[in-house]
Amino acid sequence: MSGEDSLIARYFRPLASNPGAFGLGDDAALLKSDGDDLVVTTDAIIENVHFLADDPPETVARKALRVNLSDLAAKGANPAGFVLTLALRDADDSWLAPFARALGEDAAQFGCPLLGGDTVSTPGPLMISVTAFGRTPVGRMIHRQGAKPGDRVVVTGTIGDAFLGLDILRTKSTAVETAAAARLIDRYRVPQPRTGLASLLRDHAHAAMDVSDGLAGDLAKLCAASGVSARVEASLVPLSAAARSLITEGRVGIESLLAGGDDYEILCAIPEGKLSSFIEAAGAAGVAATAIGIIERGTSPPRFVDGSGSELVMRRLSYSHF
Ligand code: ADP
Ligand code: MG
Repeated sequence: MSGEDSLIARYFRPLASNPGAFGLGDDAALLKSDGDDLVVTTDAIIENVHFLADDPPETVARKALRVNLSDLAAKGANPAGFVLTLALRDADDSWLAPFARALGEDAAQFGCPLLGGDTVSTPGPLMISVTAFGRTPVGRMIHRQGAKPGDRVVVTGTIGDAFLGLDILRTKSTAVETAAAARLIDRYRVPQPRTGLASLLRDHAHAAMDVSDGLAGDLAKLCAASGVSARVEASLVPLSAAARSLITEGRVGIESLLAGGDDYEILCAIPEGKLSSFIEAAGAAGVAATAIGIIERGTSPPRFVDGSGSELVMRRLSYSHF
């Protein structure tokens, strides 16, 4: 066996238990159709862009899969499986073993089996690319398009924690107490895809997307796709206790949290009549959902207003690679 084949056999075949993966012994995998729609998404993560070189291999694996699971959840899709492309500098066992172990745990936890992939070498930074497949009943994928004036703007979880966690890692800041800092760093390294909300979104949301590049910029994308505008009360945006105290202490502005990336929460437009049922059902599924604003007629970019009704000035709306 070549080094490449034995690497695949050693680390990834044990994960490929789904019959459609054929034990990674074929050229392609097979996804059975039950007449559902297949929803496809892909996201790559790159060393020193989406994760740091000294991030643990376990969290790198979890992030690579979870950012894709987050997209599937936002589309109202239930996970069906994924393929994995790895670009590695070398076949380092001490990195690959924990990477594969954590990937297998997440694949099992989220019901998203490994179906296949490709393994290549690179002289450059590590890259992990995942393409994930999900299922919805026919025609039921939730789009960015579809938000209507009067819908409530709803977001899950808390916003800005991953941005703060990355900032702590980058600056080695000690301004945040140790346990809280660890929680923020964990939010950056290990997103919590809202997989449990997929069917709820199908039944309640006019439009949805996951918040990956910054709430402000992502809401602007949802509004543009829907041909609407929105007004958000910044004071209603859900924040963790750690984020709130950093704001109170004047160490960070709310604008930075609204524009910071890596939240991997769900942003959606819910018609008024379904709002309380959505929030209640999300809560029962263990996810806080918070109404933060309203969809408005018009095509101007969404506005974020403070307690006194004046508009926040945002220097930037989101993270952009270029
Ligand atoms: P080929 O060169 O014929 O395209 P490969 O040698 O790249 O095939 O892959 C052999 C098998 O191993 C295929 O089933 C492929 O899906 C699987 N595979 C390769 N790399 C990975 C990986 N990183 N994760 C999961 N499966 C992989
Ligand atoms: Mg082949």
